[in-house]
Amino acid sequence: MGLEQNATLDTAGIVQIANGLDYAERRCALMHELVHDERGLPHEHDPAEEAAVERETARRLIHVDDLIDVARWALSMEEAAYELAVTEDTLVCRLGSITHPVDRQKWRAFVDEMAADR
Ligand SMILES: [Zn+2]
Repeated sequence: MGLEQNATLDTAGIVQIANGLDYAERRCALMHELVHDERGLPHEHDPAEEAAVERETARRLIHVDDLIDVARWALSMEEAAYELAVTEDTLVCRLGSITHPVDRQKWRAFVDEMAADR
């Protein structure tokens, strides 16, 4: 659930975004519904599908290069999420799902670099 409360996608493919969301919440909610629409699968009742949509949403909104740039200086998840214009939940999801081989290679190199700087 989570983002479903912020947006809905009807059977005609129309996305409605709730009022009162901040910029990052609107961005994440809209992308979430667009991914649902592309996948064309029923949602909100299938936790596995919902998790897949959340991972794809996070991947699309947070490029690994931007993630690495922010990780170099941000002092908190809140600060990093603000800079990336995503919700903290989306950032946490992205950090837990760096699965593309190129992204993994870049992230691993960054982690190794940070470890070497200690
Ligand atoms: Zn959903």
